[in-house]
Amino acid sequence: MEKKSIFKYHPNIYENDIITKEIGVCQCCEKTVSEYCNKLYAIETVRIICLECVANGKAAEKFDGQFIQDAEIDKVDDPSKSDELFNKTPGYRSWQGENWLACCNDFCAFIGDVGTKELEEMGIDDEVLAEHEEVSGYFVAREYITKKGNCAGYLFQCLHCKKYHLGVDGC
Ligand SMILES: [Zn+2]
Ligand SMILES: [Zn+2]
Repeated sequence: MEKKSIFKYHPNIYENDIITKEIGVCQCCEKTVSEYCNKLYAIETVRIICLECVANGKAAEKFDGQFIQDAEIDKVDDPSKSDELFNKTPGYRSWQGENWLACCNDFCAFIGDVGTKELEEMGIDDEVLAEHEEVSGYFVAREYITKKGNCAGYLFQCLHCKKYHLGVDGC
């Protein structure tokens, strides 16, 4: 059994579809693993990175890359948190690349893909949709947002105040 890596900003990684569950040889440490991350923003094409090399930052360092495209970095006043997110956290699947949300001077945890239906089931649809409109400055009709749809929702939760925040893409 491989040791499971834990990611502060991406706690549900084993339930989301981010990880490739196949046998592969890590391009960083050359260990053979049964699950790996296949996405790193770097000059070199890197397709197989074991989760240990994600978590300890070795892959980001070796290939001079990062796992996350973008984040609300102006809301987080701590370089060690940015390092943890960009260099030691696997990203999520999206249309235009990640835009990781922040709250309470820290990055949020990415919970998963959502649409309005999933938000309604959680009872947080009105709250997060209103907040998204206010923060982004544009209105997205709620019926358009579907899980993994052309207009996709990404749910985040603050690690501190526990508030939910919504990102949308492709809308
Ligand atoms: Zn590795
Ligand atoms: Zn918060």
